[in-house]
This record gives sequence, C-alpha cells and structure tokens, in this order.
Amino acid sequence: MDFIKIWKNRRQIAEGIKNNIFKQEHIESLAEQRMQICIKCSKFDITGKDCEVPGTQPCCGICGCSLALKTRALSSSCPDNKPKWNAVVTEEQEDQINYQIFNADQDGDQIQSGNT
Ligand code: SF4
Repeated sequence: MDFIKIWKNRRQIAEGIKNNIFKQEHIESLAEQRMQICIKCSKFDITGKDCEVPGTQPCCGICGCSLALKTRALSSSCPDNKPKWNAVVTEEQEDQINYQIFNADQDGDQIQSGNT
C-alpha cells in the first residue's frame, strides 16, 4: 500500500466516500458515464491486484484508486497520459461547494457559527 499516493489523493478519496454515501442523482449519472469508459479501458482492474487498498476493486490500474470512489469525486480525473475523462470542478471549487452544502440550512441560507 502506497500511503504517500493515498495521502496525495486524500481529498478526492474523501469526496468519493462522501458521494458514495450521500448519493445524488447528478453525481450518480456522472459516475455511471465515467465507469462505462473505465470498463472498456485496458487499465481496468476487476481482480483488485492493482488496488492501493485491498478489496476495493474495481480499481484503476494506473493510480490504484477504487473506481467506486474515484468516479464519484468531481475533482478527480483519469490519470492516463491521454485522460479518458476529466475533472468537472477544481479542488477549490469543490471546497466551495462542500462549504455551501455543509454550512447552509434547508433554504440555502448560510448558517451562523460561533458566538453571536
Ligand atoms: S481512470 Fe482512466 S486509466 Fe483508470 S481505468 Fe478509468 S479510464 Fe482507465
């Protein structure tokens, strides 16, 4: 297990985990489109031999990421020299989206935190 590689990808991994738990229609649609591309790729690892974390197959044979998480991370992209799919947001945009999601009430108003 390459902990340095995992550490470098920790934001995408965390986003993938969050989106795999809190499933949203548009993210599931994007993940399905990406997965259909991966299934046809020669680097698609269904057995798990290239997975950075054992038992998380199917994985990408290049980066070793679990495709269940990688395809759901909006800021993740295919690591091939000629990427077969790209990120749809930057890491900064992803942070802003997460901030707005987790700091807003049901009406979309920002929640005040701290002492008032
Ligand atoms: S992420 Fe890219 S290189 Fe990896 S399996 Fe999918 S298409 Fe292939």
